[in-house]
Amino acid sequence: MSKFTKEQLIKFIKNFSSLIAENKDLLTQYDLKIGDGDHGTNMNRGILAIDENISSYEDKTLEEILKDVGLTLVKTVGGASGPLYGTAFINAGKAVEDKEELSEEDLSKVLEAMIQGIKLRGKAEAGEKTMLDALIPALEAYNEAITENLSLKSALRKAEKAAFEGVEYTKTIKATKGRASYLGDRSIGYQDPGATSAAFLIAALNEAVDFEINSEDKDSDIVGIVLVSHSEKIADGVKELALEMAPNAKIISAGGLGDGSIGTDLQKVTDAIEDAMSEEGVLVIIDLGSAFMTAEMAIDTLNLGDKVEIVDAPFVEGALFAAVESTLGSNREKIKQVLNKAKLESKL
Ligand code: ADP
Ligand code: MG
Repeated sequence: MSKFTKEQLIKFIKNFSSLIAENKDLLTQYDLKIGDGDHGTNMNRGILAIDENISSYEDKTLEEILKDVGLTLVKTVGGASGPLYGTAFINAGKAVEDKEELSEEDLSKVLEAMIQGIKLRGKAEAGEKTMLDALIPALEAYNEAITENLSLKSALRKAEKAAFEGVEYTKTIKATKGRASYLGDRSIGYQDPGATSAAFLIAALNEAVDFEINSEDKDSDIVGIVLVSHSEKIADGVKELALEMAPNAKIISAGGLGDGSIGTDLQKVTDAIEDAMSEEGVLVIIDLGSAFMTAEMAIDTLNLGDKVEIVDAPFVEGALFAAVESTLGSNREKIKQVLNKAKLESKL
């Protein structure tokens, strides 16, 4: 259970502000295709006004901050996105009530309240080529992740991915709300500017939360092990074998692609590293080729450079030795020494 704090809320607003500023021209370009070419400038006006207030947020409650953001957007953005995002933030403020920090479930309710606000104000539903087409899938992915007891960070990462997939989806549908609806079928093929800024909003939320090592975890004092193989069966099988020898090892397999076929999957590997993470860090054992690149990318994505290492060891023997060594309480350095020896030893 991690908590979403006021500090993170302020960070989220700052991140959103930066993302809008950086992508102002892009948002306007998208709006030029199917609207009146002002979404970037509209949103930028809003965030500049928020930036002026942000120093006062330290002394405000979560509810007050969200309501201030909402009212500022309504007053300054101009264009449909002003009242839409404004209502979303004001509703978010109501949803936090007087809470000082938010649980995973609370944050789900806040996102839900934002969506309901936009639906009500815009008289819009999913599938109408609006910001809802990024936000609704994001919330669904988030909820699914927290039901599976994934961490707040994992849930937000999945939400961001779903939001940008939602943006892609808006290219395939016609607008039935807002200015873009005047184009009818001619709006097909273009991504919705509002959905794009909404995906930035979810990205900003994800960026506000750092990866957290769960220190309450009973196994948090042993090194975690991640097995990355092109084959799901190999990764699972080697894990089974290792657990047979070291039942208390913290070993997670990440084999194959999402659909079970042969390959290495960034999302799977990232999730596995997160699951295996402990105070002592994680060693990643890989098979061939792209396994190394995928593992490296996963480590970069998580921003966990010095906590996670890829080790050069034979897949099966490496996993077994690492599992046993880790449960003896050895640190990463010690385990790597043992694996190096294993690499040189002959089996005959
Ligand atoms: P305007 O359309 O008034 O120029 P913006 O360009 O700032 O305002 O924002 C356009 C975006 O607002 C659209 O891309 C769409 O995502 C969103 N939008 C417009 N109308 C609605 C609506 N009725 N319901 C939900 N979202 C809408
Ligand atoms: Mg516009």
